[in-house]
Amino acid sequence: MDNGESIESISLRVIKKIAKIPELQHLPFHDLESIPLGRLRKNATRLHAVCRYKRGVKKSNGVTPSDVRCIDVHPYALIEEWERYAEFLLYHEYLHALGFSNHGREFRNMESLWPDKEVQQMGNEFSKYIRKKSPIWLWVCDTCNIRYPRSRRSNGRYRCRTCKTILKDLKSQ
Ligand SMILES: [Zn+2]
Ligand SMILES: [Zn+2]
Repeated sequence: MDNGESIESISLRVIKKIAKIPELQHLPFHDLESIPLGRLRKNATRLHAVCRYKRGVKKSNGVTPSDVRCIDVHPYALIEEWERYAEFLLYHEYLHALGFSNHGREFRNMESLWPDKEVQQMGNEFSKYIRKKSPIWLWVCDTCNIRYPRSRRSNGRYRCRTCKTILKDLKSQ
């Protein structure tokens, strides 16, 4: 599945595009290059990317790129057909690294400056894509009629919390 570009080369492209956005010129965007980049686990279904701050960093004090421990992106965003979306994900996380720590109005305004407008609507499509690639398993208790959603099969190894019956696997998508 690694037929896409490396996350580092996608990052360099994103930083070049940031350098052309007039509204962001006053920010230390060159420092973004030193942020370590990583990947989320393949079976992450809710997160597409995340900006992790170093221990002890308080968002209220204002964040700069040097306060960021790493940015992780979903590995499925790095395959070729999602690269444009991966750029947008990195742009989003870089805004967090540049001090826009919450998703307030100012953040959304900055986010909308990204030149590729179409890609800003790709989040739902990507969610569907990763859910299809990483099916959700339901661990079912026939006795209590409870279903526990999980990213893996239980393979007969787990029991219901309530009645201790061995749980069965049911694929949900
Ligand atoms: Zn965010
Ligand atoms: Zn039960």
